[in-house]
Amino acid sequence: METKQEIDLSITYNIREFPDKISGRCDNCNNAKFKSSIKNAIFLRECRHCGMKKII
Ligand SMILES: [Zn+2]
Repeated sequence: METKQEIDLSITYNIREFPDKISGRCDNCNNAKFKSSIKNAIFLRECRHCGMKKII
């Protein structure tokens, strides 16, 4: 059975719980360009295309 996971853009994912399907690419739109920010030693990666956020 195929499990299709819906991406919720209003929440921030964590790569430990949601590893990249393809490393370095957005799970939602497959884009490889990200906006990154570091806050409190946490590295946040935001997709420039769809805005999906993931802590990596
Ligand atoms: Zn994306």
